[in-house]
Amino acid sequence: MKFIEGTRVTTDGELQANNITRYHVTKYYRDQISDSGHYEQLKHIVEPSVEEFETRGSLDTSGEHDNTVVLGLQHKYARTGLLLVTDRCASYCRYCFRKRIVGKESDEIAPDFAKAAQYIRHHPEMTNVLLSGGDPFVLRTAKLNMILDHLLPIRHLESIRFGTKMMAFEPKRFDDSALPALFQRIHEAGKTSIIVTHFDHIGEISVDAERKVRSLRAQGVQFLNQSVLLAKVNDDPDILAATFAKCHQIGVRPYYLFQGRPVKGASHFQVPLRRGVEITRGINQRLSGIEKTFKYIMSHYTGKIEILDLGDDGRVYMRYHQNKVPEKIGRIFSRPHVEAACWLDDLPEG
Ligand code: SF4
Repeated sequence: MKFIEGTRVTTDGELQANNITRYHVTKYYRDQISDSGHYEQLKHIVEPSVEEFETRGSLDTSGEHDNTVVLGLQHKYARTGLLLVTDRCASYCRYCFRKRIVGKESDEIAPDFAKAAQYIRHHPEMTNVLLSGGDPFVLRTAKLNMILDHLLPIRHLESIRFGTKMMAFEPKRFDDSALPALFQRIHEAGKTSIIVTHFDHIGEISVDAERKVRSLRAQGVQFLNQSVLLAKVNDDPDILAATFAKCHQIGVRPYYLFQGRPVKGASHFQVPLRRGVEITRGINQRLSGIEKTFKYIMSHYTGKIEILDLGDDGRVYMRYHQNKVPEKIGRIFSRPHVEAACWLDDLPEG
């Protein structure tokens, strides 16, 4: 098998034992990153590295298993349901935090959307559902419509979100002539369609992606973007500021910049918190007020934690952006900083 560092002879058993995600990249994305002028950074997103055999961590860093209420449906935060609709993506990111699922025959994908909908119907506090996986746009539009058959009649759902990297991997997926009717259905059901794109780097935002985003926005679809802070890829305030400014320009609101998670086989992508705070400051110094709409977030087992700053007192200041316990949301807390710490669990209490 080819790795960034060179060819290595391996067996299927060794790959499985080390949870090495399958290698697959669309021709579109390969051409895009080759022509982007940023190949040396972007290759790390999709090209395997031998480091994947060595880096330690967990395969479920944010407690997805513990928050699964019906097979394939997670309910961690009161107002949001997360529905795993597929274990496939158009290409596979080497840093994916769902390595345990993607590119495999996973038994965590929702097998029965009627059951998931039944749970949602009994939870009126849930106002939005996020379709994720995997990438929902690998599914045929007819299958997406079938999933919506179950969700759209639920009156208390206000929005349907699609988490997808397809706008980077294969923007032509959005040329499908059946898609406008799908978004129209969501609109006519009184709900908002939101596509959460996943651009980590300005070199991923192709001319085709820009064209498709603009066309879908004209159809009433809202756009947010989430990025992951990744060593060797985008750990540079110039790159991330340019990425967020470009998102803003095409009408995609920068939403989350995720701290890389300590995922087995992917924690070599983590950037130390000290550097992450410096980068976040640098991004904010380069953007206008209307462009800096992102939060620097650690998606931890206990909740989504906004990383605010590393103070002169040597403490990392954070705030719960989301928590299962509503009283904890918005609460600022701090922990002593430890050099090279990348995650809350690396910081001692006290
Ligand atoms: S597209 Fe998303 S789910 Fe798929 S491999 Fe990349 S990060 Fe993981």
